[in-house]
Amino acid sequence: MKFIASCSCGKDSLAMVYKIMEEKLPLDEIVFYDTGMEFKAIYQNWAKLTAYAEQRGIKCVTLRPKCPFKYMMFDHPHMSRKDGVTYYGYSWCGGRCRWGTTEKLEAIDSYCEREDVICYIGIAADETNRLNKERKPYKRFPLADWGMTEADCLAYCRERGIDWIEYSELGRGIDLYDILDRVSCWCCANKNLWELYNIWKYLPTYWEGLCEIQRRTNRPFKSNQSIFQIQERFESGYIPRHRTREDNKQT
Ligand code: SF4
Repeated sequence: MKFIASCSCGKDSLAMVYKIMEEKLPLDEIVFYDTGMEFKAIYQNWAKLTAYAEQRGIKCVTLRPKCPFKYMMFDHPHMSRKDGVTYYGYSWCGGRCRWGTTEKLEAIDSYCEREDVICYIGIAADETNRLNKERKPYKRFPLADWGMTEADCLAYCRERGIDWIEYSELGRGIDLYDILDRVSCWCCANKNLWELYNIWKYLPTYWEGLCEIQRRTNRPFKSNQSIFQIQERFESGYIPRHRTREDNKQT
């Protein structure tokens, strides 16, 4: 029997993997899926985790998409089922068109769906919908078994000195978990306006990355607004309110 942990290097899966090692649960491999569009801090955490785990005899494996993310965004030919026309690239990834996530989940599943493998998945105890959706006989959810919520996972990481600090040319370091609800790909179209505002304000290099993508696609980033229209709103003084998960449940 082989034990594999899937780790995105966000707060939940990092807390899970470090705690598995701390508790000395069986662990043979850690798998990280690199979309190619991760924040620098994610790559740094993967490098630190790799060094720590390999010293303990645990193998670390990086999986990657078959084609580069930007090729899939702009160049990949595909025929539309609606009109039979061939289009090039799927444009932004996120919302209902999460082509990158589909490939990621399939790659991780097919890596783990081998005989005699148990796969640890880092879904927090308070993410009940995801926990129900992801259940498969070979998957284990240690965070749920330990009763660790998303907030507990972040606190666990912080207590152990794990951070997601990005340094911009503004000269300041800022932790991604202070300005984003979810640390996913930097170009993810699921980002809300509050997160976008923070990227625009604190991480200009990533904002420029978003502008670069928008220059190459006609599809608006979100709610029919392009990145440039969103930027105009920020420049005119609009500051989006941070909506918590509780706020969203009430609407
Ligand atoms: S995090 Fe967003 S951009 Fe990245 S693969 Fe998932 S949906 Fe796509």
